[in-house]
Amino acid sequence: MTTRILCVFSMLLTAVLCSAQTSPSSSAVPQEIPVFDVTAIDKTIDPCLDFYQYACGTWMKNNPIPPDKARWGRFDELFERNLYILRDILTEAQTPGKHTATESMVGAFYGSCMDESAIEKKGNAPLTPELERVHGIKTKADLIRQVAAMHRNSTPVLFAFYSQPDMHVSTETIAYLDQGGITLPDRDYYLKDDPKSVETRQKYVEHVQKMFELAGDKPEVAAAEAKTVLTVETGLAQASMDRTVRRDPKTRDHKMTVAEIADLAPNFDLTVYFADNGSPKFTSLNVSNPDFFKQVNEQLNAVPLEDWKIYLRWKTINEYAPLLTNAFVEEDFNFNGKYMSGRKEIEPRWKRCVKATDENLGMALGKLYVDRTFGAEGKERTLKMVQSIETAMRQDIGQLTWMSDTTKKKAYEKLNTIVNNIGYPDSWRDYSSVAIKSDDYAGNTVRAGTFEVQRDYKKIDRPTDRKDWGMTPPTVNAYYRAPMNDINFPAGILQPPFYSKLMDDAVNYGAIGVVIGHELTHGFDDQGRRYDAEGNLRDWWTAEDAKEFEQRVDCTVNEYSGFVSVKDDKGEVKLNGKLTLGENTADNGGLKLAYMALNSIIDDTQVKPIDGYTAAQRYFLAYGQIWCQNVTDQEARKRVLTDSHSPGRWRVNGAVQNSAAFQQAFKCKPGQPMVAENACHVW
Ligand SMILES: [Zn+2]
Repeated sequence: MTTRILCVFSMLLTAVLCSAQTSPSSSAVPQEIPVFDVTAIDKTIDPCLDFYQYACGTWMKNNPIPPDKARWGRFDELFERNLYILRDILTEAQTPGKHTATESMVGAFYGSCMDESAIEKKGNAPLTPELERVHGIKTKADLIRQVAAMHRNSTPVLFAFYSQPDMHVSTETIAYLDQGGITLPDRDYYLKDDPKSVETRQKYVEHVQKMFELAGDKPEVAAAEAKTVLTVETGLAQASMDRTVRRDPKTRDHKMTVAEIADLAPNFDLTVYFADNGSPKFTSLNVSNPDFFKQVNEQLNAVPLEDWKIYLRWKTINEYAPLLTNAFVEEDFNFNGKYMSGRKEIEPRWKRCVKATDENLGMALGKLYVDRTFGAEGKERTLKMVQSIETAMRQDIGQLTWMSDTTKKKAYEKLNTIVNNIGYPDSWRDYSSVAIKSDDYAGNTVRAGTFEVQRDYKKIDRPTDRKDWGMTPPTVNAYYRAPMNDINFPAGILQPPFYSKLMDDAVNYGAIGVVIGHELTHGFDDQGRRYDAEGNLRDWWTAEDAKEFEQRVDCTVNEYSGFVSVKDDKGEVKLNGKLTLGENTADNGGLKLAYMALNSIIDDTQVKPIDGYTAAQRYFLAYGQIWCQNVTDQEARKRVLTDSHSPGRWRVNGAVQNSAAFQQAFKCKPGQPMVAENACHVW
């Protein structure tokens, strides 16, 4: 797990799975995606009634979800296009000839993933030694040693251990212990009793049983094991803190000594774990959820050792499944892809292999991607836009009537120290110690995972490395990190439909401009505002101003809690306004700030309409259109529980309802749906 980041959208790559489909299609890289698309608009609807439908209606009609996807939107279109570019790079790197070390390495990794016959021939062999190690566990101390071994090769199990900046001294990175160990995407899946949750658990148990059978267990044994897995994981879920509660960093702020946590949860044998997990020696750490360790400490005694072993076997099988034979890959997809996300088909193998290369050797593949797609000029023009939006934020803070000068001074300080990282890191990661073999996909993945875990652990008790990136360059996303106080835009997002040098300013500011404003606002949302200019968890607000802020975010919570995300035969599900608060605040702030920045460089009354739309209208349409998407009901349901971002429809309609500039641009009148009765404004 890397540093907690707040990104512009969540990819939830839980279903990067493998199968036997080969035949990489020979089609070339798709054309650039239009930034502003008049043909996407549904002109039969009044923009003041439903702006999302207006901006995206025809696009949605003409772009059904491809059978191998759970969601299909403009972000996904661009990500898909990147996959083709990356495949070209990898195919070339794989072809015999003269290659750099980086090319040879990523080419060999990709080739090992594509070589299905080698994978089939190996059968369960990559899994067997791991399962034998679990089988050999005789005592609770053995159990914790095996957990340490699994963490070393990046298999999530029982709890989480990672490095992150100290919440109060952000210049120092320290060790963190955290809750973990469940397999379904959220604790709610284990704890809720509505019919859909009950059904999901039943399907999960069936899936776990099938996977145990594939690993060689008899059906009746596998059936009993699957029930045990659900019982053990339900215990972990009960001890876990709710996702929404965790949003407040203060709930995760518990620094203690190694001796203190070892005393608090003696059954974990944490001193054995720390000695065995490959981390450097340390004396203090942050325990994000001490209650989890207290509660699971009891479970470690109450649950028989044999049951823990079954659970560890399952976590191993589950982690290895995408790396194994087609039988494992298919069953993995049947549950995670089909049942949980509503995908109809598994993605072609080459796409899964490109993604796997990006996940495992992303900073090496990313270097080749940047060389091909992103020049110094891209960095420069993005930086210019960022600066203009930071200026807008400075003005915005200055104009706030509810904030005192004392707090404003601190807010300026924070804004002035934000670091902008654009495109790619200054120095490239050195993977030369990772052995990549052309015929060992599972081994390659485990070795790359081990390398990444080691890299993370090495940061413990060292100065924080603010230059370390949390996303690979081809990623179509962006993020803000509160402990670093930095905003980051990987090269992958700095292209159409987010930015095009062929487009007018209004359109570019409505697309990438709002994304920039969104990330900037994260520094000042309900989470970000808790951190100061240095990235420390420190209250810099006067009590009065904090109260004013809370009132404003409460308005946003209530507003978004009323929006319906999915309505199907299983009922209607509304958004969780508290879980999505930070993202909704960032969307509203981003839309306002980028518009202010645009107006500082153009005079709307002087700019001639293009395609029949004024500059202001094009700005809002460009914003609306980056969120055009279709989503399966299953995926929408999952995201309500797990995704801190609202779905596209509400990212657009929620924000424009609060925007007087939007209402002016489209001449919307009070009483119309796109004019909120009580508009919410935080920034
Ligand atoms: Zn965000």
